[in-house]
Amino acid sequence: NEITKEAITEALPAGTQLRFFLAALVLAAIVIFAAVVQGKRYQSRLDRLSEVGLSKQGSEIKRTSDEFSQLNRHVSGMARDLEERVSQLEREKIRLTAMLESMQEGLLVIGEDKNILLINSAASRILGIAVERATGHSLLQIARNADLEALVDEALASNRGGSREIRFFKPEEIFLRVNAVPYRVASGERQAVLVFHDVTEIHRLENVRREFVANVSHELKTPLTSLQGFIETLLAGAWQKPEHTRRFLGMMEEDSRRLSRLIHDLLDLSRIESQERPERREPIDLGQITGRVLSGLESQIVQKKLTITNTIPIGGSKALGDPGAIEQVLVNLLENAVKFTPEGGSIEVRSKAAEGAVRVEVQDNGPGIPEGSLTRVFERFYRVDPARSREMGGTGLGLSIVKHIVDQHGGSVGVTSPGVDRGSVFFFTLPLTDLS
Ligand code: ADP
Repeated sequence: NEITKEAITEALPAGTQLRFFLAALVLAAIVIFAAVVQGKRYQSRLDRLSEVGLSKQGSEIKRTSDEFSQLNRHVSGMARDLEERVSQLEREKIRLTAMLESMQEGLLVIGEDKNILLINSAASRILGIAVERATGHSLLQIARNADLEALVDEALASNRGGSREIRFFKPEEIFLRVNAVPYRVASGERQAVLVFHDVTEIHRLENVRREFVANVSHELKTPLTSLQGFIETLLAGAWQKPEHTRRFLGMMEEDSRRLSRLIHDLLDLSRIESQERPERREPIDLGQITGRVLSGLESQIVQKKLTITNTIPIGGSKALGDPGAIEQVLVNLLENAVKFTPEGGSIEVRSKAAEGAVRVEVQDNGPGIPEGSLTRVFERFYRVDPARSREMGGTGLGLSIVKHIVDQHGGSVGVTSPGVDRGSVFFFTLPLTDLS
């Protein structure tokens, strides 16, 4: 009893089959209609959607490309500005570096932690520290100076700057005037600029001047005190004994001569020192001048039985200079030779050619100069044996006058001595070429 289509069809009554068929037809028609209507609606929505989408995209693309070109313009402008700023900064850096490096004064910039931020080459030279070793390192550790530390602390702690003269040893003694100026950077950090002026030479000159004044006072005081003593003794009654009076007056005459020699030499020295160049510049006949100077010393030469040899040819030299000043050089050197050489001694004066110059030598066989005094004898008031020099009427200024005159002429002076009591050779050179 298998249930089949035919079985069902057969089982239904005849009217039922027809109604069933019609109902199915109507249902199919409704479904098809609904599908068509829905499909149209989707189609129009899709069309609308695609229309809207495309136009939106287009305007966005347009807008985006406008923005891009604007951005591009901005970025290019910024790049140009930046380039200009960078080259401006470069130019400023070059200018600043050139300025810092051309300064004679040492310049340092330090931070709040006292580390060196910047150092110019003058500061590196003055303080004796290489730039690479200084930058980023503590100034106080590098300089190790309590006075500098106090100045830096003071400057960083206050708004005012400070200035101090500070002594350094590197290892020789130098004096620096240090000015410290504090300032604040944008971040609020306090920094300071330190400027170093080397005043060692000023110090040296001040010492020389002080020493000179002390020496002059001492040199003047000795004969003056002696003069006053004689005067007081005479006034106290010694004048009543003619032999005392004569003796005292003789000694007083010697003291006053000494005073006048000293004043004369001091005036000469100050006149020569105030000139940068010789007063005159003309050919000098060294042979003739030497002969004249020796003639002036004739009586002492004879008295001391000295043997003099002068081999400087008359009219032989082409040196240029001030004849009066060169005569003074020869007077001072020959007077010393005559003064210091013992009785019966010998003196030789000669000249020789020396690289573009003429060299004059005065040799004697007197006491000579100890090695330690060879360079010092040209200093003002320096004497190997002060008591002996004074006894002989010396002022201690003769050789410094010689040195000044020869320096002025562009020449050089010096002395050699094989040792004590083995004589000495004083020499000076004068350039043969034009002095300009
Ligand atoms: P002074 O007036 O004492 O001679 P100088 O300046 O002329 O002054 O000389 C300085 C010193 O140099 C002298 O005191 C002396 O010690 C030394 N001196 C100069 N010339 C000679 C010489 N020919 N021989 C030895 N010593 C000399």
